[in-house]
Amino acid sequence: MNTPPIIGIDLGTTNSEVAFVHETRPEILRDGDDGILPSCVGVDDDGRLIVGTTARNQAVAYPERTVLSVKREMGKEKEIPLAEKRYTPQEISALILKELKEKAEKIMGRGVGHAVITVPAYFTDAQRQATKEAGAIAGLEVVRIINEPTAAALAYEGSHAGDERRTILVYDLGGGTFDVSIVQIEDRVVEVLASTGDNRLGGDDFDERIIQWLVRELKQQHHLDVTENRAVMARLKSCAEKAKVELSQAATTRIEADHIAEDIHLSVALTREAFEGMIREEIDRTMQSVTKALQDAGITPGDIDRILLVGGSSRIPMISNMLKDKLKIDPSKEIDPDLCVALGAGIQAAREMGIDTSGVLIDITPYTFGTSAAEFNDEGLDPHVFVPLIKRNTKLPVSHTETFYTMVDNQDLALIQVFQGEESNALDNILIGSYRFDLSNSEAGSMITLKYDLDLNGILKLEAVEKETGRTLNAVIDNVFACEDPDRVRTSQEKINGFSSMGAAAKPGKAHSGEDTIPPDITDTLTLAREKLDVASKEDQDEIIDLMEEITDAVEDKNFEKARIICDELEDLLFYID
Ligand code: AMP
Repeated sequence: MNTPPIIGIDLGTTNSEVAFVHETRPEILRDGDDGILPSCVGVDDDGRLIVGTTARNQAVAYPERTVLSVKREMGKEKEIPLAEKRYTPQEISALILKELKEKAEKIMGRGVGHAVITVPAYFTDAQRQATKEAGAIAGLEVVRIINEPTAAALAYEGSHAGDERRTILVYDLGGGTFDVSIVQIEDRVVEVLASTGDNRLGGDDFDERIIQWLVRELKQQHHLDVTENRAVMARLKSCAEKAKVELSQAATTRIEADHIAEDIHLSVALTREAFEGMIREEIDRTMQSVTKALQDAGITPGDIDRILLVGGSSRIPMISNMLKDKLKIDPSKEIDPDLCVALGAGIQAAREMGIDTSGVLIDITPYTFGTSAAEFNDEGLDPHVFVPLIKRNTKLPVSHTETFYTMVDNQDLALIQVFQGEESNALDNILIGSYRFDLSNSEAGSMITLKYDLDLNGILKLEAVEKETGRTLNAVIDNVFACEDPDRVRTSQEKINGFSSMGAAAKPGKAHSGEDTIPPDITDTLTLAREKLDVASKEDQDEIIDLMEEITDAVEDKNFEKARIICDELEDLLFYID
């Protein structure tokens, strides 16, 4: 390649990244790290300038010699004190850009003098000009400044630009800023129709809510006021952020910090629900901004083809749920929200170099994939427990195996269903595959292993094995990342290579026999009902589910006679469903 290389840079308020197109794919440049450089500049004990993680780590201890969030100052006529000196915002930003430039040069093994840099859509001319100046100070000619939502849209849509017009909502919630933009992409041209937000709202505020709660807990439980103790407050901040991140995956987390004071240890549980209560007001405000952006763009929710989540805080599940409620589509999560803007900058940089790109490599699964199993719990038999095999955000390729057990003696069939979603009731998730697995009439509690393999191209391979006989069922589902539109997946090639047995797959680790055993005729009816569920009309589905629940209740009461009567009713209904 003789054209001088052009790198793509996301110069963020909290973090910055650099990307470059390798062959045809944009990649984040990583120097043995995660590719994320904290946008933080400082002076160390020896008076040397430091950039990135080391600067961020000293921020709490030495605020007077650390600069955070300089992006907020861009375009202002001001000087920022740092140790004994004063710098313009451009000069501080230039130190971050220089770090990224040198990293790129080290990885690429050649000099880099050109860049595409992203800025918020609301940046004024003065702020854009200041960003260009920062580039020049760092030794980078800024060939183009692009808007962050444009870059995010390019990362998602760049490979199929040229298709019909697409209208995209970009919801970007980072550490300290929030933007929502409406972007239209058509014939490779991306236009920001509207952009609004709050440049003082983000993950730091959510950490602060948790910190305040911890401070109150310490006061109540131990009569301890830590608000004046900088070191303890710094520890609480890191505990709070860790808990917040964990609650994006788990329903509850425990916050522990030993020796907060001499013999006082902090140990408290925080539920996702309680955390959501703490931040609801802020998230509601972001939703009002979504409404405003739609109004400003002159469009309605129904006009939105895609929602993109950008910024680390957009991983909070409540946000996806609220956006889905509001706009009736699932937000896209295939591309790491921290890296999406830089990858888009990389795509634009490639375009400036005359290179066509082939889209971003998706290397985490944006969805959870699992199966349905029956389980006895405190409330009786739950026939549709969702058992996740591959959890969302897992790095690809990935393989996972779970063990299940047959429920009844002489069980000759297990229905193996593949669901995508997060709901604990499998039926509330999207069914993307359903396979009959013939079993060998063995006794209740026989082991079936189920293995899912998911690769970078979204191909999900499934293998079920009946341990005792070695009977095997293999199936392949293509394109499982296209789950926004379940029909698309269901109609994609589902190749069943060879299959044998299965039964009402039981819950891992729980074999059921003796008085828990459900008579096989009842299980058969339930299995048939589950098979027919996804071809039934919505109305029939509701009725089938109601009847299945009634049967389950009757089984729970050991009233098999009643269960059989309802089974007859259910079978009558199923008879008419093909
Ligand atoms: P950004 O400015 O886009 O780099 O976002 C950084 C913010 O995202 C910080 O406040 C992080 O604590 C927050 N963040 C990162 N990952 C998660 C997560 N899984 N759940 C909630 N917040 C997160």
